[in-house]
Amino acid sequence: MNNHVTVLEIDANALEHNLNYFKQKLEPSTKILAVVKAFGYGSDGVQVAQFLQDKVDYFAVAYTHEGIALREAKVKTPILVLHPQIQNLQTIVEYRLEPNLYNFKIFNAFLKLADEAPLMNYPIHIKFNTGLNRLGFWHNDLSIIISKLKETNHVKVQSLFSHLAASEDLEEKEFTINQLNNFAYIAKQFYKHLDYEPLLHILNTSGVVNYAKAQFDMVRIGIGLYGFGNDEKETAQLKNTHNLKSIISQIHLIEPGETVGYNRAFVAKKHSKTATIPVGHADGLSRKLGNKKGYVFINNQKAKIIGNVCMDMIMVDVTKIDCNEGDEVIVFNSQEMLKHIAEVSETIVYETLTAISQRVKKVLKR
Ligand SMILES: *Cc1c(COP(=O)(O)O)cnc(C)c1O
Repeated sequence: MNNHVTVLEIDANALEHNLNYFKQKLEPSTKILAVVKAFGYGSDGVQVAQFLQDKVDYFAVAYTHEGIALREAKVKTPILVLHPQIQNLQTIVEYRLEPNLYNFKIFNAFLKLADEAPLMNYPIHIKFNTGLNRLGFWHNDLSIIISKLKETNHVKVQSLFSHLAASEDLEEKEFTINQLNNFAYIAKQFYKHLDYEPLLHILNTSGVVNYAKAQFDMVRIGIGLYGFGNDEKETAQLKNTHNLKSIISQIHLIEPGETVGYNRAFVAKKHSKTATIPVGHADGLSRKLGNKKGYVFINNQKAKIIGNVCMDMIMVDVTKIDCNEGDEVIVFNSQEMLKHIAEVSETIVYETLTAISQRVKKVLKR
């Protein structure tokens, strides 16, 4: 049992608000796939999925074991595994997960497994590379894929999809529109040769924000569910879902000239009061936040991190704050705080969220 006092509260109302915000941007018929990979972007993929399961059409995870965790938690919603490996295919079927087949090696392996089992109309997804050059078939693979699919009723293509390389960057609009057109062309060829019509999807969060016309049959929302739209105006419409809280373990009164933390990085210039908080880089706080770059809130006042961030702790300056050992500490509870942490950590909010480690206790708050 995890009884760490450093707790990430996942705000269920905020998740629902964000989901509804994206729903109202879309056609009522457009399906929603909630991306819960990487522990629900550093929260708790299982708790998030249990909360969202009757509100969305699909879930996606990156890896097979992430999907298994959802199935073991009795999540019944279809689950797309975005990045399976050949070694995982048997397990994928056992847990009724739906594989993305992105190259001939894994496509052929799955068809072989489906033939041998035999499976009937097992749901698979086929990904096309339209410019990201990460995972996916090329459009000139189309004819072989189609001819193989025509020979079997052991699998059924549930969806065709692709992924945008720069959906948040309007300076890359021309490139993105080209990706969208390529995808539409591939889908058309597919529909022409197959006697059924798989779902089509290409948009992630900022795809929905910037290219909603290309919503096709489904959209894949990740970061947006967790409160960020990769755009200030959008983010303002969303609610923060990740609230990291802790408590003060100890308060020290130190004299001028004394130092705080490893390498004696903070040197007190005057009589000071410091608070030690049980959250460190092993919980996901970057060392770049040390030495007054980062801050927390204690009793509604800003307390700067002094000295280096330790593995398990930070020390903050509370000289001017009325506080006691055991008082609550807000490490972050707003989009502004998270954006600040990401900026100081020289990264993007995606990484700040997913960095929240497994040691932190996770609680979904309704
Ligand atoms: C992670 C991921 C998403 C979600 O992207 P967001 O920008 O977080 O909405 C969608 N599709 C694929 C293929 C992904 O890997």
